[in-house]
Amino acid sequence: MKTSVLFLGGGVVSPPQREEWGASCAFGRLNGINFVVDAGIKPKLSRKPEFSTPNFKLIQNERVDIIFITHAHADHVGALAVLAKQHPNAQIWMTWHTADLAETLLSSSLSYLKHKRPEELLESPPLFSAEDLTALKKRIQIAKPEEWEVFESAAGRIEFCFWPRGHLPGNSAVLLKAEGAALIFGSDTYSVELPTVEAAKPLPQDFLQLRPVLFTEGTNGATFHLDRKIEEARVTSFVREVNRRGGNVLLPAFSIGSAQNLVITLAQAGIPTLLGGKIAWTAMRSDAYLPFAERLKDHIHHLEGWDLQRFGKEERGRTVVASHGMLEHGSISHSLLRDWMADQNNAIVLTGYQAEGSLGRYLQTRARPDQRIYFPMNDDRITLKAEVQTIRLSSHDDLRHLVEGAISCRPREVVIGHADEINYRSLSRRLENCGLKVQRGENNREFEFNF
Ligand SMILES: [Zn+2]
Repeated sequence: MKTSVLFLGGGVVSPPQREEWGASCAFGRLNGINFVVDAGIKPKLSRKPEFSTPNFKLIQNERVDIIFITHAHADHVGALAVLAKQHPNAQIWMTWHTADLAETLLSSSLSYLKHKRPEELLESPPLFSAEDLTALKKRIQIAKPEEWEVFESAAGRIEFCFWPRGHLPGNSAVLLKAEGAALIFGSDTYSVELPTVEAAKPLPQDFLQLRPVLFTEGTNGATFHLDRKIEEARVTSFVREVNRRGGNVLLPAFSIGSAQNLVITLAQAGIPTLLGGKIAWTAMRSDAYLPFAERLKDHIHHLEGWDLQRFGKEERGRTVVASHGMLEHGSISHSLLRDWMADQNNAIVLTGYQAEGSLGRYLQTRARPDQRIYFPMNDDRITLKAEVQTIRLSSHDDLRHLVEGAISCRPREVVIGHADEINYRSLSRRLENCGLKVQRGENNREFEFNF
């Protein structure tokens, strides 16, 4: 049987098109059924909405029968309301935690718009309306992890299953099969236990006997991680030391997943921590994180309610986890960085991914102590005195786990996406050395497979 998959976004990114990162989305055909896996946005929204989303134009005249969402990160679900509107008859499936966290993410991004000035809205117009979101919520169907479901229509029949992959509560690979053909959409994957999520589960052996095609991420395809527990202990002991000398610690983090993992790790070590950012705090009340929030309520507090200006200038010995994870202008982490960076008692701890061109990356790789850093938006220069530490706490598999994971799937071939050129090359070389056939997941390219 012939099957095909077209990348509408989330393909491998070469340096000249750095802004293309994100917006995961694949359209496929299997046994008469047309499906889509994920509908994300790019982290940096563009002036033109169509540049922020996957290339939905390529399928605007196609029938889409079913949409699968792997997890609730913006680069996988941020454009779902747009896709859902374009294909009003498609079924939409995801796990319970994904639906819960996606609702927080999508509705918070709408309420955030209320605080924007008309000229700002003109610059980056919203992708969808409150009505679109209400319509979307009514269509979501919940899949139980590890259970097979059937989708059948006059056009054909497929079976699908959501399989836990670590990384974020609810995150799942999507397994598809029909008439001996089998596909794995691997999602973002983490094979190590996180404070709030179990490690990725090995895929079911009977399914792997079909020799599936594997679509894998390659985010950290050129990296080997250190032991996570040791790195977490490094973070907590460093934070404690800075607090003890009266210094403030700022830990920039992304709103869903990394912010909660950090705040819970610090609170479990007995460090009182403030969490900044509306989405991050709302997510803390979701089913996935609420038990932690309640158990650790004496140590986790919301930064909201404080006068941020006064807090930044007057407070000492505080620990704050706040979005944006790369210190983007306009965010809480950006504002606290400006308030705290000129004091040598303070520290900034970078634990997450810092994209090329971001302020976080600049601090991490180029800024030197006592350097004056220019903030163009405020036309301001501030001398960097605070300590900048990088302690990586990624929740994506490293090269070793990506290779082990791919080999264990016994795939007939592997398509790598969700990676930049360096990581793609490193991972593909290693997989080819292990005897696997590898393809480069490129945007707007259709792959055909024969089973
Ligand atoms: Zn993710």
